[in-house]
Amino acid sequence: MSETDSRPDLLGMTPGELDTRLSQHMAGRGEPDYRVSQVRRWIYEHLAASFHEMTNLPVEERTALDEAFRITEPEPDTVSRSSDGTVKHLWKMDDGELIESVLIPTSDRLTLCLSSQAGCPMACTFCATGWGGFARQLTAGEIVAQYRSSLRWARDHDYGSITNVVFMGMGEPLANRKAVHPALTVLNSGFELGARRITVSTVGVVPGIRELAARPEQFGLALSLHSPEEALRAELIPLEKRHPLPELMDAVKAFRREGGRRVTFEYTMIRHINDAERLAPKLAQLARDVQAFVNLIPFNPIPYQDWQPSRPERVEHFRRVLDTAGVSVAVREPRGRDIDAACGQLRANALVELKAGR
Ligand code: SAH
Repeated sequence: MSETDSRPDLLGMTPGELDTRLSQHMAGRGEPDYRVSQVRRWIYEHLAASFHEMTNLPVEERTALDEAFRITEPEPDTVSRSSDGTVKHLWKMDDGELIESVLIPTSDRLTLCLSSQAGCPMACTFCATGWGGFARQLTAGEIVAQYRSSLRWARDHDYGSITNVVFMGMGEPLANRKAVHPALTVLNSGFELGARRITVSTVGVVPGIRELAARPEQFGLALSLHSPEEALRAELIPLEKRHPLPELMDAVKAFRREGGRRVTFEYTMIRHINDAERLAPKLAQLARDVQAFVNLIPFNPIPYQDWQPSRPERVEHFRRVLDTAGVSVAVREPRGRDIDAACGQLRANALVELKAGR
């Protein structure tokens, strides 16, 4: 967001606010109210990048809108396409900040992985974004803009429509609730993406989990667990000290109680760090307590630690223990490794290149 641009961003408004603001604007200009739904459709359906594209509005109305409002439109800095079809966009924001989003096609889905912050303040030891530090919060409009620009790209390249959104890009979404809450509303009721198709991933921001539970929509929750033991978890995730596992599990239970909501545990498996055999039954117990689905993710090496992914036999061992305990489990194949688009790698490359003096 540019410091000098004080025009309110239509993308960051919930559809209700957008209608109200546009109605006031049109009334003030003596324009009919149907202009509001015209603009709304340009934003949510036709994905117009600017008011000038809104060709069913008189030219002077397009200009008046442009003077009163803006539509955040990030500039694509780099687009990388993996051999497996995964596409990573590096977007340049108005102030020059770079953020990433990833499109992940599978046979029946197109999932968009969104960033919620530029960098991340959580400093998890296994995550490249965490090592890079925190730059700033994204605005709701900047979060929604990633969705719009990615959808436009997908439509133009025969990828079809985005079916699922996960907040698993850069940043901790529940440490930016001010922007993430309205962004969720816009995706769900503006772009009509079902709440169950939108998943917020958190490292364990308890007040944020409780806020999400209190919302009427059934957004999914993914919890980055990575250890079923407090002491080990605290070594990997500094936030564990502030919101220890028992408190976290209470919040997850409250989230589950709100009826029919999906909870996923993410477990990044790092060789000799969090893959000891004793941990598998403990993980199974935690997952059973809250009926969580477990994703086992082989660690993606990052430039800052010489850690390795767990051996496949060990991953398989964890999978079997969970499965035998009646826990639904999947081993997540890393996608987009050749373009550094895999979990926890986002921004790594850009920063390494920066350090190399690019
Ligand atoms: N802050 C949020 C969302 C961003 S990370 C969260 O922590 O959930 C998205 C997922 O990628 C998280 O589960 C995170 O733990 C995982 N991840 C981070 N670094 C990774 C790495 N190097 N290899 C594999 N997964 C990683």
